[in-house]
Amino acid sequence: MPAPTLKIDHARYILTLDRQRRIIEDGAILIEGGRFLQVGKAAELAEARADRVIDGRQLVITPGFVNGHMHISYAHPVRGIFPDEQASPLVHVFNLQTAMTEEEEYHATLLGLVELVKNGTVCFLDPGSTKFPDACLQAYEDSGMRVILGECVTDQPAPFTLPRYDAREAVARTSSFIAKWNGRLEGRIRAWAMPFSHETCSPGLLEALKRVADEHGTGLTLHHGSGTKARQDSIARHGYTPTAYLESIGVMGPNVLLAHCLGLDEAEIDSIARTGTAIAMCPVTAAKGGRGVPEHGRMPEFLARGVKIALGCDSPNNSNHLDMVRTMNMAALQYKDARQDTRQVPAEAALEMATRHGAEAMGLGDELGSIEIGKKADLVCFDVLRPEWQSMWNPLNNLVYNADGRSVHTVVIDGRIVVDAYRQSFVEEPRLFAKVQEIGERLQARTGIRFPRSRWPLS
Ligand SMILES: [Zn+2]
Repeated sequence: MPAPTLKIDHARYILTLDRQRRIIEDGAILIEGGRFLQVGKAAELAEARADRVIDGRQLVITPGFVNGHMHISYAHPVRGIFPDEQASPLVHVFNLQTAMTEEEEYHATLLGLVELVKNGTVCFLDPGSTKFPDACLQAYEDSGMRVILGECVTDQPAPFTLPRYDAREAVARTSSFIAKWNGRLEGRIRAWAMPFSHETCSPGLLEALKRVADEHGTGLTLHHGSGTKARQDSIARHGYTPTAYLESIGVMGPNVLLAHCLGLDEAEIDSIARTGTAIAMCPVTAAKGGRGVPEHGRMPEFLARGVKIALGCDSPNNSNHLDMVRTMNMAALQYKDARQDTRQVPAEAALEMATRHGAEAMGLGDELGSIEIGKKADLVCFDVLRPEWQSMWNPLNNLVYNADGRSVHTVVIDGRIVVDAYRQSFVEEPRLFAKVQEIGERLQARTGIRFPRSRWPLS
């Protein structure tokens, strides 16, 4: 039986993110076999018939959002437990993550998927934090989401609990993980090499993992930052800045995605641009964590050098929301303020990072990131019959500066409707929410990681 066809007719605007960045007013889209078959003015597609037709008169349509750094698996049950004065909760974060059972991780992941997809995300990269991918596979399949997975490995001491192996075993585990997972769920799952960071891995391990990624035609991601102290440490240890060190051992290139990338100097930015390395930045995490964007944030310099940047939400205990619209908003605002210059990170650049450029950064640019004939049919429909979308002069400004994920009305992945007029149908939400709350209680009791629940009297 042929796959059902889908038409969105008379869309108020389609932000195509195609090569010319066309914005089509009164547009139409025809989807067949999970791909865009026609995209144009509604009048041009007047004859096109489909099994289902969505009335787009009150919808603004964008490509699906991609999220380049998203620890999905642990934090929902304990989201919000850390008080603002907890400078870095990382030690607790990794202890909580390590303590999760298979069943707990499945439910936490399911809730993460609900939040992501209902806010318009169609693809995310989990930087190796999922411990039980077999248990989570059903959740990935049910949600219809695209997922880039990997197994977090290290072979050096770390300041917090991370999986540590000898280098040979870490490489073998990564190879077999990729062989087992890459391409599953009709290609919606990709598997990458995921060393935690250059500080927690030996050069031999990093080089070997890059070779594994190259041989499998897949990617490698790791946490990466610089700044005065990290630079001094890296120079003392390796004789190079963190980025120059990675370049010196061959762990850079278009299939490498460096996460966070705060505090890099000019030479490091040049190294990233020259080698075609991609980066993922988490603007809300940076702001909430007081990471000093005015001093350490270099997004405008990366953009000026044409570096492919994906945006990330990091984790439900970092950002803490999983809303790519709010994340675009933060990216567009924080550099205007940090540089006292409204020309920094235009709304257009924010939307490119969340879609086309983000997909390129994640190695998926040929298939995703724009609404173009032949590409995979992933898209988001925003309901503009809401006060925050008024008045409509520049839909792109409205999206990035006025709206948030709550106006996501319909989401399509691979030509399949996964959110239909605000509703997902893969899980019963109230029951899941109660379950995850209960898991949070169990997890805090088991680990002893507890904080005062409120600064104000709570009775
Ligand atoms: Zn991370």
